[in-house]
Amino acid sequence: MAGVAMLGSFGCSGIVGQSENNPRGARNQRRNIPEPRYLELERSGELAHREKALWKLYSPCYLCPRLCGAKRAEGIGGYCTVASSFRVASYGVDFATERPIRGTRGSGGIFLSNCNLLCIFCQNWQIAHRGDGSVTTPDQLANMMMSIQRRNPHNVSFISPTHLVPQIVSALRIAIGRGFNLPLLFDTSGYESLEVIKLLDGVVDIYQPDFKFMDSEIAARFTQGAPNYAEHAAAAIKEMHRQVGVLKMADGLAYRGILMRHLVLPENLSETDKFVRWVANELSPETHINISGQFFPAFRSNEFPPLNRRITRTEHNQAMTWARDAGLHNFHS
Ligand code: SF4
Repeated sequence: MAGVAMLGSFGCSGIVGQSENNPRGARNQRRNIPEPRYLELERSGELAHREKALWKLYSPCYLCPRLCGAKRAEGIGGYCTVASSFRVASYGVDFATERPIRGTRGSGGIFLSNCNLLCIFCQNWQIAHRGDGSVTTPDQLANMMMSIQRRNPHNVSFISPTHLVPQIVSALRIAIGRGFNLPLLFDTSGYESLEVIKLLDGVVDIYQPDFKFMDSEIAARFTQGAPNYAEHAAAAIKEMHRQVGVLKMADGLAYRGILMRHLVLPENLSETDKFVRWVANELSPETHINISGQFFPAFRSNEFPPLNRRITRTEHNQAMTWARDAGLHNFHS
């Protein structure tokens, strides 16, 4: 999961511009922004096929690279512990995300409980590891999407979506029937199945993946043994980039593309030097990127030195120097 703020403190009550009876009002305000591609997928019937294909990967579950094979429909969870029912931790409108995403009206966010990667330094461990949240159905998820749209943000982001992609696409189809039309974002840890990401071609408008570790052995130490993190993340992110390309903007607001995130870790455990060269060479030097210096010891970090301390200013400066030397220049924070 990306290092995101809790969504329980959204400041959206003052937002106006779209009445509850006019769910298409937001589209009228986005004259320069093309409609989300999932609308055409729905009209053509393709989105229904994708939904069906995704549910086939759900039980036994092969939705992520953990490949648990868990019979989730029978109430048996895998590593992520999510079986047939799922939870949402919070939803609302967020003004803390990157500027091209939050714009002036904020970014809608739906923070899904649990996670398939399970970092030992997780800053949202109560949600990702413990699963705090309220039991939700796809129909209720669709209602949340509509509730957010009525608040008139620029987009809606699913945070930690990997283990719930079929439920999200089902909710999306229900919401489309109710007038949903905002760009859809996926905010992920990068630990994704290539097969699933391919099924999301045309469904997701903006991907916000982390690329946390360049070395899978290091990744396994800090993610409860997640196999081959670096290889899976690299393949999935390249596929995301193939689908949507670099971040595209109109009037300073992103409507399609990829915005990479990377958390700098103490003693360069996340190998930022390798990461920035990978982005420049395998994606594009034009890639928009957030190289975060916000790491702080959380959850079980104290058991895993050097993760028991914050990064220093020098370490973050070094990370930014590596990024600039690699040719990257579209930075966000
Ligand atoms: S989504 Fe959960 S149950 Fe499915 S393979 Fe991944 S960790 Fe296992």
